[in-house]
Amino acid sequence: MEPPHLGVPDGGQRRASSDSVRQVSSRPLHSRIVTDPATGNGYYRGRLLGKGGFARCYELMEVSSGRMFAAKVISRAKLTKPQHRDKVEREISVHRMLHHKHVVKFEKHFETEDSIFILLELCNHQSLAHLLRKRHVMQEADARCCLRHILLGLQYLHARGLVHRDLKLANLFISGLMEVKIGDLGLATRLRPPESRRRTVCGTPNYLAPEVLERRGHGPEADVWSLGCVMYTLLIGRPPFESRDLEETYRAIRHAAYPPLPILLSPSARSLLTAMLTQQPDDRPTLDEILSHDFLTKGFTPDRLPLAFSSVPPVPS
Ligand code: ADP
Repeated sequence: MEPPHLGVPDGGQRRASSDSVRQVSSRPLHSRIVTDPATGNGYYRGRLLGKGGFARCYELMEVSSGRMFAAKVISRAKLTKPQHRDKVEREISVHRMLHHKHVVKFEKHFETEDSIFILLELCNHQSLAHLLRKRHVMQEADARCCLRHILLGLQYLHARGLVHRDLKLANLFISGLMEVKIGDLGLATRLRPPESRRRTVCGTPNYLAPEVLERRGHGPEADVWSLGCVMYTLLIGRPPFESRDLEETYRAIRHAAYPPLPILLSPSARSLLTAMLTQQPDDRPTLDEILSHDFLTKGFTPDRLPLAFSSVPPVPS
């Protein structure tokens, strides 16, 4: 039996010129039925949404209800070391407890002989990374909308004693209603007192905070730094710390030395970016301070991103 078409409203996604999207469309789609052995529930496997370190992410439709999910499928063959399995188990145990409008919802998980399936809320418009590849930059009002959604999600995580540790455009998903949601809790960890913080360097090199690079541990302030990198990239179109040489990038991060902020940015955007990308973690604003900063409170903030973002390229200025 042929499964129904599991496309998303945005046909333009397949045309987007991202590496991951190109990889996706170059692979044949083998749609088929997957069954949860514990419940007997069947799912149609639809198109490949993307690939991560361990997982492939597919659209999945529950046969009995017609509900759609994004399923992270982790092949057991890839979990070659006990710590790989631990990482997946930690992601499941952390993520399943979280319920917030701006955090990608964990729906359920099941295991088959070959794979582990993590069923998540399907974010039809993929991530801010996909969106920015098409549009290059955002107007301040739209960036403010993104920032507000991310801040609300992050406030929820921090209030539960969790730090995300890997905030970047590719982990910020866009729902069918064009709301931004924090996803990929794979590196999220419990907040600890400074003296017992994890000293592992993980996360995306370009968005790593100076104190994480220097192995001084990862507190909530490091998420604020990464959020500053996200805001910079949305407004300016390239990350603040980027160079061909990794050592050079690390040096720039350690000194919080990013290219001068364009004069065209509003004074409130400039002052917020400067505050978030401060070298000393204690000098960065808290989430509450960011939410009450002029950039977030003085300008018009749309409730959601414009639907046109998902398909129409920006008008050249
Ligand atoms: P990694 O953990 O390595 O960053 P993931 O396995 O989380 O990668 O995701 C791989 C890709 O699957 C993402 O880049 C994204 O394109 C897609 N994806 C992940 N979660 C969702 C979701 N909830 N909705 C839509 N697409 C998703």
